[in-house]
Amino acid sequence: MTPEKHELISSLTLVHYVNCFVLLEKNQEDLLSDKNDFICLPNNEENLFRSIEFDPMILRLHRRKAIVLKTTAEKGKKFNFLTREELKNCIEKTIKRVFGFNPNIENFSQPTWAAEENFQGCYTNMALCPGKTFEQFYSSLNTPLVDNFYMIGEAFDGANAGYAHGAYLTGLKSAEQILNKLKAGN
Ligand SMILES: Cc1cc2nc3c(=O)[nH]c(=O)nc-3n(C[C@H](O)[C@H](O)[C@H](O)COP(=O)(O)OP(=O)(O)OC[C@H]3O[C@@H](n4cnc5c(N)ncnc54)[C@H](O)[C@@H]3O)c2cc1C
Repeated sequence: MTPEKHELISSLTLVHYVNCFVLLEKNQEDLLSDKNDFICLPNNEENLFRSIEFDPMILRLHRRKAIVLKTTAEKGKKFNFLTREELKNCIEKTIKRVFGFNPNIENFSQPTWAAEENFQGCYTNMALCPGKTFEQFYSSLNTPLVDNFYMIGEAFDGANAGYAHGAYLTGLKSAEQILNKLKAGN
């Protein structure tokens, strides 16, 4: 890899992001709202989570009101290092504060990626493009490493950085470029 390409890749910024799915005991689901409200929580010491909502897919497919608690950045990282008991306490406090009752938790998910040795983040944000315009940055980033060797993925599509369709579009674009080169060679 050239030093220029290395510098471009190094200036991509990575973010931490966590979804925590929570199921309450079935008889408590009636205590939750029927609307799929998206509730933002204040970013302070008290709150580990930044937002709370219901998962519409789980509701539609399983008729269960699964709560989704989300958190990001340093709080996302912290989440991954909590013991299951500590996390359960945080979930209980959040539900009590938001919905006003003591929850009986049936189960909850706890991703632990950030505790892995080589973990750097969940996905990228749009790059800061140091010394370059957005267009210049992403067109240099997307030149092949060597002839017909492309790097693809969400990080390489500035407009859709961090999203699955960004990854999909970079795959399509690189495949088109390779096909065009092959056709031109025939
Ligand atoms: C919690 C969370 C929620 C998200 N929610 C959404 C959402 O709602 N909507 C949305 O559009 N996007 C969402 N995303 C982002 C989306 O998942 C990514 O943008 C997308 O998966 C990126 O695809 P990719 O192919 O670039 O990379 P990845 O999906 O990360 O694929 C890279 C692959 O390479 C493999 N790999 C890594 N290193 C090596 C190696 N050395 N050798 C071999 N294989 C290797 C990895 O195991 C992985 O399978 C979310 C991401 C997270 C983490």
